[in-house]
Amino acid sequence: MRRPIVIGNWKMNGDYAANRELLTGLVEQWTGVHQAEVAVCPPFVYLAQAAELLENTNIGFGSQDISKQASGAYTGEVSGPMLSDVGCRYALVGHSERREYHGETSQLVAEKFQAALDNGLIPVLCVGESLEDREAGKTFDVVGAQLLAVIEHCGLAGVAKGIIAYEPIWAIGTGKTATPEMAQDVHSYIREVMGPEGDSVRILYGGSVKPDSAEGLFGQKDIDGALVGGASLNADDFVAICRAA
Ligand code: 13P
Repeated sequence: MRRPIVIGNWKMNGDYAANRELLTGLVEQWTGVHQAEVAVCPPFVYLAQAAELLENTNIGFGSQDISKQASGAYTGEVSGPMLSDVGCRYALVGHSERREYHGETSQLVAEKFQAALDNGLIPVLCVGESLEDREAGKTFDVVGAQLLAVIEHCGLAGVAKGIIAYEPIWAIGTGKTATPEMAQDVHSYIREVMGPEGDSVRILYGGSVKPDSAEGLFGQKDIDGALVGGASLNADDFVAICRAA
């Protein structure tokens, strides 16, 4: 039985006042016993604020990235031991925006995935194809290669300790959600690549998830939750998505 999980990726958004309003709104609305696990990933500089406002609540938090190094002369980087120290439970790795704008290769992503595991964090591995890949019929090749790079480095058992997020690049921030069937096809392929270990791995969908598209997506058998960008910046919308999971 895989417990659904919904993670909000705030990307480079927020400030002290807005974060406080959003997090207190989430804590007020997400009370009692719920089926889904819920977490948010604020920018690094606001992790301590999230730690404070989410203390003793049923909402976790994580980082949007992680260094492959543990410490030392790596200006601008934030390490696994630091993220663990501040109370993170999750670390996103390989988001398409990191791959695209920061030249992150699948090899580096694999090393970051391992760094998260080494520090007791749950890595959330993001994979996904571009529109060009999809139109060329290469979706499975691209997603498969991104996944295999991490399997080769961390082993199947290592990857199974994390979470996988399928985020088609063409659906991110565009308002174009993959149909539940399109997402299900890729989720089922990812599970197949994982072999028997795949049964227990949670696979999230990400890309323009909104309250009205959440239910259809979560109705698919291999979709175990969502990685939510834009809609995670609004407490009502984010909680509506969490409720649907
Ligand atoms: P949007 O929900 O804004 O499309 O972003 C998805 C995403 O990239 C989450 O990591």
